[in-house]
Amino acid sequence: MKRRDIIKHLSLLPFFGGIGGSMVPSLKTIAASGKSKRNLFKELGVRTFINARGTITFMTGSLMHDYVLETIKDHSGDFCMIDELQDKVGERIAAMTHAEAATVTSGAFAALTLGMAGILTGMDEKKVEQLPNLEAGGMKSEIILQKGHQIHYNHAFINCGAKLVYVETAEDVDKAVNEKTAAMHFLNCNALQGRIMQEEWVALARKHNLPATIDIAADVPPVSNLWAFNDMGYSVVAISGGKAIRGPQSAGLLMGKKDIIAAARLSSPPRGGTIGRGLKVNKEEILGMYVALERYVNQDHEKEWKEWEDRVAVIDNAVKSVSGVTTNVYVPPIANHTPTLKISWDVAKITLSGKDLLEALSKGNPSIEAYGGEKNSITVSPWMMKAGQEKIVAGRIKEELRKAFV
Ligand SMILES: *Cc1c(COP(=O)(O)O)cnc(C)c1O
Repeated sequence: MKRRDIIKHLSLLPFFGGIGGSMVPSLKTIAASGKSKRNLFKELGVRTFINARGTITFMTGSLMHDYVLETIKDHSGDFCMIDELQDKVGERIAAMTHAEAATVTSGAFAALTLGMAGILTGMDEKKVEQLPNLEAGGMKSEIILQKGHQIHYNHAFINCGAKLVYVETAEDVDKAVNEKTAAMHFLNCNALQGRIMQEEWVALARKHNLPATIDIAADVPPVSNLWAFNDMGYSVVAISGGKAIRGPQSAGLLMGKKDIIAAARLSSPPRGGTIGRGLKVNKEEILGMYVALERYVNQDHEKEWKEWEDRVAVIDNAVKSVSGVTTNVYVPPIANHTPTLKISWDVAKITLSGKDLLEALSKGNPSIEAYGGEKNSITVSPWMMKAGQEKIVAGRIKEELRKAFV
């Protein structure tokens, strides 16, 4: 580049034109940035990193597919009625997931709140207004769950004013059910921590003539989980859009029985006097969620799985070459069900704690976020990496382990 050109390019970069000036970019700078892209992470001083951990909410979940981003961009220039869009998109989503009905929510948590709102109010608009004051509306108020299914996300139901009643056995369920019982909830990722599994739970609910709800927020893959619980007869199924499905992080799906979804919509935006008014999704999120799901359902899952295995193998082979290192490849049975690598080492040979290694990776360049961090081990999940990043991760972990080798 000629000097003249370099100066021209520099002047196009935000802030370079205004060194010593204000922190606020001028409109001229912003307009010019249309030509040369701004990097707001750099401008703001926000660290970005290679995600070797997974679909973690505080790490912004997952990366939306280009196709999702294009869809959002292509449709943000027109107005439409939110309800009409939800109706039409909901029908397509329901067909893809074997549900009677479906709607896009602002996440799995919102889907649980709205689904429960639908169960509690039915189509009674007075009750919708009264939520979360269940007593005033003479609504049911108790939700039965298994003790092993306690999780902070169950607060989604407390938002509806409901009380959580914990049980362990089928006999406990029989005893706990009373005229106040509204539903029976199942936390799929904790299935193995409870005594009653998914099929038996929904059968128990049927026996007591209660709706069964299920949280499967992070439970694809396998893709079949998108319909397995609708097929099983669950009345409400909630899943995140911004995890494996790679839709907007601020989106999710509420699937289930027609009457319950219709009732849930009464508590949903755009309606203002509702508990759900703050759980808004815009047209971009609704459409982004829809095409992300479409794409996810139709993608080659075997090929993707093989890519994840290959990435694990690259890291596995690199770190195993350091003496004293042992590895274990495993797949978590439910939730984040993807090839995962645990890297352990002999502390007599490598004087490094898992926590220290995580910190060194995080502070390194490029920054890498892995997890675990026990006395002599860390864990790496490669499914949220971009292609090729596994080589960087492999190199950095090996480098740090070697440095600590005595
Ligand atoms: C992530 C998660 C949620 C919340 O999902 P959002 O889509 O972020 O609202 C709820 N339950 C479980 C089990 C989760 O893993």
